[in-house]
Amino acid sequence: MAVASTVTVGAGASQAATCNGYVGLTFDDGPSNDHTPALLNALKQNGLRATMFNEGQFAASYPAQVKAQVDAGMWVGNHSYTHPHLTQQSQAQMDSEISRTQQAIANAGGGTPKLFRPPYGETNSTLKSVEAKYGLTEIIWDVDSQDWNGASVDAIVQANSRLTNGQVILMHEWPANTLAAIPRIAQNLASRGLCAGMISPSTGRAVAPDGGGTGGGNGGGTGGGNGGGCTATLSAGQQWSDRYNLNVSVTGSSNWTVT
Ligand SMILES: [Zn+2]
Repeated sequence: MAVASTVTVGAGASQAATCNGYVGLTFDDGPSNDHTPALLNALKQNGLRATMFNEGQFAASYPAQVKAQVDAGMWVGNHSYTHPHLTQQSQAQMDSEISRTQQAIANAGGGTPKLFRPPYGETNSTLKSVEAKYGLTEIIWDVDSQDWNGASVDAIVQANSRLTNGQVILMHEWPANTLAAIPRIAQNLASRGLCAGMISPSTGRAVAPDGGGTGGGNGGGTGGGNGGGCTATLSAGQQWSDRYNLNVSVTGSSNWTVT
């Protein structure tokens, strides 16, 4: 029996064939040697991509983990250098926290971040002006998983189940319960036709991994099938202003089409 559970779209994006919407999964406070590898493995194994809001001090200490995040298909954002209460700091201190993190992440191979999440979600007009200086879009969250506050695996899964199209959820890279919740988060999103997307720097909302969300795919492209030597071929389907279908024809020991 031919089985092709995922197709490859665009620049290496692995995603389910049908995405009725996108959500932004975020993991703060990394990277680290202790937690980043396991989190990246879990996300990859479950076909999820996420935005990692890194602290600059850890990007500087563990640059290989920043590179690993990028190599795993994740997006990397700025979460300040030392995780202070920025709204209690001077503009010069804010600038230092942000600029040093931009540099540390870039030096580690993470690119120059376009997204910034202030520690504790605390912001003010002075901080916003510094963010603007560095071309950063401030990202807070729509749903707080409370994983930092001892939330159970069930509660973390439940929080993710409340996400709707375009929304962003706060999680962290260090809680064991967050890691344990990943497979069930993936199952829940898939059951609702939602896919894990990138956070658009222009809107701050979750969109398709290629930055689109209105299709962009105007036909063509092939994805590799997995197992049994079957082949999946991807083509454009019906399109609307805010979403689109992709047709996946799978040929192998049996023939079928997925829309
Ligand atoms: Zn944080």
